[in-house]
Amino acid sequence: MALDEYRRKRDFTKTPEPAGDTTATARQAPARFFCVQKHLATALHYDFRIEHGGVLLSWAVPKGPSLDPATKRLAMHVEDHPMQYGEFEGVIPEGYGAGVVMLWDVGTWEPESDDVDAALEKGDLKIRLDGYKLKGSWVLVRTRGWGGRAGAEDDGRSWLLIKHKDEWAGDIDITEFAPNSVKSSGSFREILAQETPDVWVSNRNSTGDASMETLAGVLKKLDKFEPVEKPPVGSTTSPPQTTSAPRKATAKKAAATKTRPAARTRKKTSS
Ligand code: MN
Repeated sequence: MALDEYRRKRDFTKTPEPAGDTTATARQAPARFFCVQKHLATALHYDFRIEHGGVLLSWAVPKGPSLDPATKRLAMHVEDHPMQYGEFEGVIPEGYGAGVVMLWDVGTWEPESDDVDAALEKGDLKIRLDGYKLKGSWVLVRTRGWGGRAGAEDDGRSWLLIKHKDEWAGDIDITEFAPNSVKSSGSFREILAQETPDVWVSNRNSTGDASMETLAGVLKKLDKFEPVEKPPVGSTTSPPQTTSAPRKATAKKAAATKTRPAARTRKKTSS
């Protein structure tokens, strides 16, 4: 419509001027946003979101993205999120998603499929990411419910997020290698420790949903994912006692020689 007059005045078989594709220019000119929000809620997961049609299409990835093309990560398709949510990092005090949100990666994306809507409908969306942690070619592929069968509401929610083989693939565990925020560089603990963390108020009421948790309930799980670190050497917070130096040395030696106790402790706390 916007180019109607422009086109009416030209014969594109005779002029080198472009006819102009309003959909292409409107959609491709601004970079499309993507983000991954690490979310400690009822369970730890990574919310993978890509901008499309003015909203953030969203998948919850329990184990987070993997850079290894052989490792397919389950990605549950969840409801679209508003664009403003994409840069959020902070605390959801109550209701749906109560917990802590970390902006784990952010950047731009572009489709490798010609028609994004058709690719989504088909359940096979190839994308190229340009984030801090995630780059290169990926695919989101639906595992079942092809074509959206009627009467099976849950069908089609399960997708897989898979890295394609390219120069950005690798066997490094990116969730362990780069666990912290790209916004604040903080951990969950550090995000919580901010004097005034950003707060997102969920507009969905938690009443009557047993699966929803309070922030306090969620925070009890923090130790499992972010064990409290020993104070660094020379820390002023450690008590000024003469035995501190030998104690540290012993602890360091123990940590260097044994790995079993840590594993045992983890097992104990998670049961
Ligand atoms: Mn989430």
